[in-house]
Amino acid sequence: MSRQVFAYIKHSAGEVEDSAYELIKVAEQIDPQAEVTALLFGTGDELDKACQQAASIYPQVWKVDKQEHSYPNAELIRPQMMNLLPADAVVLASFDTFGMDLTPGLSVKMGSSHLADIVGVEGMEGDTLKAVRQEHGGQVHTHVTCDMSSGAILSVRGGVFPASEGGQSGQVVDKTAEAGDVQARRKFLEVREAEIGEVDITKEDILISIGRGIEEEENIEIAQELAEAAGGVVSCSRPVVDAKWMDKSRQVGTSGKTVKPKIYLAMGISGSFQHMGGVKGNPFIVAVNKNSKAPIFQVAHVGVVEDLLEFAPTLTEKIQEMK
Ligand SMILES: Cc1cc2nc3c(=O)[nH]c(=O)nc-3n(C[C@H](O)[C@H](O)[C@H](O)COP(=O)(O)OP(=O)(O)OC[C@H]3O[C@@H](n4cnc5c(N)ncnc54)[C@H](O)[C@@H]3O)c2cc1C
Repeated sequence: MSRQVFAYIKHSAGEVEDSAYELIKVAEQIDPQAEVTALLFGTGDELDKACQQAASIYPQVWKVDKQEHSYPNAELIRPQMMNLLPADAVVLASFDTFGMDLTPGLSVKMGSSHLADIVGVEGMEGDTLKAVRQEHGGQVHTHVTCDMSSGAILSVRGGVFPASEGGQSGQVVDKTAEAGDVQARRKFLEVREAEIGEVDITKEDILISIGRGIEEEENIEIAQELAEAAGGVVSCSRPVVDAKWMDKSRQVGTSGKTVKPKIYLAMGISGSFQHMGGVKGNPFIVAVNKNSKAPIFQVAHVGVVEDLLEFAPTLTEKIQEMK
């Protein structure tokens, strides 16, 4: 019998997050015969719009429309999921701040296995899933197994699985009444957007991104010259902001900005998932790093093993010559 797999889909302003396109691929890798259902919690027109988009990716979409879901609160969503899901459900969610909140408690309540932050699926052996996780900042891959005989709750690293191209005409089913009413002890008060700063890195096509490997504040000039020559702007990883060398508005990552450039040149950046979690839209990634084993090379389309302090000025010169 095929498994019932549910994907918790995050959405905002009527649009599903990129992970919606990836979670269905994860479900297919776990079980190509699986019946995959997207779960969307939200409210009003924005929820309906997101459900329509989800229905272009998933054969079935369940929606729960309640005012209290205008901002996702795991404390409310967990018990409502319990009311909706079969006991042996396989639930997929993205490994982000919300997924980290939702999934461990859900697995405890459902009495099913929990596997966090998977970056690969190696297949099933009976009821046992073989999956891949990363440790030590991506330097080590660990191969793990997970007993799925009583269901499983899996959180999935964003941006590492392929994305579905959509093309489904799924059915949206309203599950609001079945989800029931629950109370939460915590409430979200407001969302405060980060300041945009003098440059909006989320709108740029070419980002020259620097990390701790830039070594000193004075060296940022090298990246700025390259950005000017290439027609882009400089963005950075968190240590550069922590050192107060660049403004927070330039930080890419899960606690910084989500960017969708066409070209992402990462120099002196190791490629932590917190950093790469902010790089979306499948850009062409070029990585420059002295360490050939840096995790960034696993996602880069072109890798340059080189000292950025030598490489960047040379590239700037070459671009200027070409112009
Ligand atoms: C809750 C949380 C949220 C976070 N949010 C973010 C976030 O939003 N964004 C973010 O970036 N990080 C974030 N982090 C931090 C993240 O975990 C990493 O620590 C950080 O991304 C590492 O930055 P880095 O790659 O610049 O530095 P490092 O990991 O120190 O890597 C520096 C790299 O530069 C290379 N290098 C050194 N010198 C040179 C040189 N001369 N030429 C070429 N290469 C060189 C090294 O080989 C190394 O690979 C967060 C962490 C937590 C816990």
